[in-house]
Amino acid sequence: MTLANGRPYLAIPGPSTMPDRVLNAMHRAAPNIYAGALPEMVESLWPDLRRLAGTKAHVAIYIANGHGAWEAANANLFSRGDRALVIATGTFGIGWKESAAARGVQAELLDFGKSAPADPARIEAALRADTGHGIKTVLVTHVDTASSVKNDIPAIRRAIDAAGHPALLAVDCIASMGCDAFFMDDWGVDVAVAASQKGLMVPPGLGLLWFSDRAMERCRGSDLRTPYWNWTSRATAAEFWQYWAGTAPTHHLFGLRESLNMIAEEGLEAVWARHAALARTVWAAFDAWGAGHPEIALNVADPAHRGHSVTAARLGPAPNATRLRDWLEQRAGVTLGIGLGMALPSEPAYHGFLRVAHMGHVNAHMTLGVLAAMEAGMIALDIPHGSGALTAAARVVAGAAGA
Ligand SMILES: *Cc1c(COP(=O)(O)O)cnc(C)c1O
Repeated sequence: MTLANGRPYLAIPGPSTMPDRVLNAMHRAAPNIYAGALPEMVESLWPDLRRLAGTKAHVAIYIANGHGAWEAANANLFSRGDRALVIATGTFGIGWKESAAARGVQAELLDFGKSAPADPARIEAALRADTGHGIKTVLVTHVDTASSVKNDIPAIRRAIDAAGHPALLAVDCIASMGCDAFFMDDWGVDVAVAASQKGLMVPPGLGLLWFSDRAMERCRGSDLRTPYWNWTSRATAAEFWQYWAGTAPTHHLFGLRESLNMIAEEGLEAVWARHAALARTVWAAFDAWGAGHPEIALNVADPAHRGHSVTAARLGPAPNATRLRDWLEQRAGVTLGIGLGMALPSEPAYHGFLRVAHMGHVNAHMTLGVLAAMEAGMIALDIPHGSGALTAAARVVAGAAGA
């Protein structure tokens, strides 16, 4: 039989679950885009978006998903033939590189594999070797959603500075914004990129860019820019339509307003702490399942290098991860993420990986519910696993939530 009927839970790393408050805020008649509630409300977004990213920098919003936000960054950062150093710690780092290369950027890949963070010493060495300072920007993913590896952004900034290199630092925060701590100004980040459908709990459709004065000045002449992508006109709009280079993404903006209200009510630091606690809850369950069962393991060995919004894991041998995901969707109403970038979908090994998302509008009972449903699935499907995972997960929740 199926026990899936009830509220479905999409535990994939984007789109994330949407709060009813966000959905309700979007449920309204089309607003006037020239005057009234929408333009007035939008002015309140800018300071809150700056607070979210820890910056006084400029903000531009594009009608785009994450891939579009990459292109927005690329179009402003580069001219044809410019050089970029791209740090990859998973599929999304490589994706940003390909996006830049397709526009004619000479994007050089520094690949750190799929389960370890970037080594700042190698970044420093690569920049020292660039004695002519031809590399214009370093592109790096904060949390790569495919591997769940988290990079040490301040250490990468220090590596750039230690090399005495003037390159800008641009960070893909699509999976981490509003989930993992991020301090754009304190960390010396020039450009930060995010999208609405992950930690921001809004449907896919808004790409967000934060960019420093330094980045704006250095990139004034970038020839990949067309009027639509130009961040300067968006960030310094004299008329409302210029924020969007056309019609505003009306309903998404009301959704974003409500999501920022929710983050402010909880407190950004409390939001980060909640994500950290729920991430540790998931890790504790996997550690117990994997005890004596090495075919079940978290992708990133060191907790310090794991993102707090998504957990990538091996749940082998293949095809056990796919069997479990199918069971959860059909019998328990939970959809887990596929394993991304660990093997090709055509390879049998692909079916031994999965990801659990815990980003955005997620609380203790949702995460414990996912883990308990996973354990039920493993029992139903005779997937060998260690015991005590749910007690271990409950202990993390109890410890974090307190009495
Ligand atoms: C989701 C994601 C992307 C891609 O976003 P889309 O909206 O799917 O285009 C890029 N980078 C990271 C880190 C992501 O998590």
